[in-house]
Amino acid sequence: MNPILEVSALNKTYKNFALEDVSFSLPEDCITGFIGVNGAGKTTTIRSILGLARKNSGKIKVLGMDMDTHEREIKDQLGVVMDDGCFYDHLTLNEMKSIIAPAYTSWSNQDYERYLKQFELDPRQKIATLSKGMRMKYALVLALSHQAQLLIMDEPTSGLDPLVRSQLLEIMTDYMKQGGKGVFFSTHITSDLDKIADMLILIDDGKIIFEKSKDELLDHYRLVKGDAALLTAEQKKYLMNLNITRYGFSGMTSDWQKLQRDIPDLIVEKVDVEAIMLANIERRKQHA
Ligand code: ATP
Repeated sequence: MNPILEVSALNKTYKNFALEDVSFSLPEDCITGFIGVNGAGKTTTIRSILGLARKNSGKIKVLGMDMDTHEREIKDQLGVVMDDGCFYDHLTLNEMKSIIAPAYTSWSNQDYERYLKQFELDPRQKIATLSKGMRMKYALVLALSHQAQLLIMDEPTSGLDPLVRSQLLEIMTDYMKQGGKGVFFSTHITSDLDKIADMLILIDDGKIIFEKSKDELLDHYRLVKGDAALLTAEQKKYLMNLNITRYGFSGMTSDWQKLQRDIPDLIVEKVDVEAIMLANIERRKQHA
C-alpha cells in the first residue's frame, strides 16, 4: 500500500516542549488514531504537518508530494478539522461555505447539502449560535465536501454526545469505503478507536512510542492476574503496570504465553486500547 502521509524526523521546539524526530507513515485505506495524554504533542504534530506551526526541521509528504513545495496542491486534497475551527462567527453556515468552497477544485454542493442534512444543521443559522458539537459537525461537513483524499482531524469527537460521535464514526467508515483514502485523527476517547481504527500511533512527551496495527496490538498484550507469592523477580520484569495487593498481582504483558506456562492458575484477559496506551506510557516513564 502507498503511504498517503509520510512524516520524517519532524522537530518542533517551544520554550518548554519539543517534538523530537517524529516519524510515521500512514498507508492508504487506513483509519489511524493518534493517541497520547494531555500535552503529549498531538496538536503540535498536526499543526506542524499542516504548516500552521512552523517546524524546525523534518519532511512532510502527502500523496507523495512535499508539503514545503506543493502546499496548495496538497491542501486541495486535505479535509481538515481542528478543534478551534476558524470561522467568521457573524456569518451563516451557507455564507461561510461560499467563502470556503471556491478554494477547492473539487467542491461538491451536493455532498455539502447531504452532510448538512445528515448532521441536522440549518444552513441559515449563524455560526456564533452553534454549540461546540454543532461547530465540530459543521467543520466536518466542510472537510468532507471537496473529495478530500486524506482527512486530518484534531480531536473531532471531543465535545460530541454519544449519538453524534457514533454518527461521525459511521461517516468516517463510509468515507473510507470509497477506497484510496486515509483518516488521521487525534483523540482521547479510546473507545472510538476500539471501534474504528486500523492503525494506532502513540505519542508521549513529543516522541513516538509506537506505530502499529490495532489488531496486532490487541493480539500482542494481555492483562494477567495471579497469586503474588508465586511471582519471581525475573517474571516481574515481563509485567507492565504491575499492581500487587494482598489479593494477588495484576499486570499487562506481551509475554503472557510464557507466564502462563510458568505460573499455575494464571488468569489471562484481553485488553483495550486505553490499557495499552497507559501501560506503554508508564513503561516509558520507568525507563526514562
Ligand atoms: P491535548 O490532548 O491536551 O490537546 P496535545 O497532545 O494536543 O494535548 P499539544 O497541544 O501539542 O498537546 O501541546 C504539547 C506541549 O506544547 C504542551 O506542553 C503545550 O503547552 C506546548 N505548546 C503548544 N503550543 C504552544 C505554543 N504556541 N507556545 C508554547 N508552547 C506550546
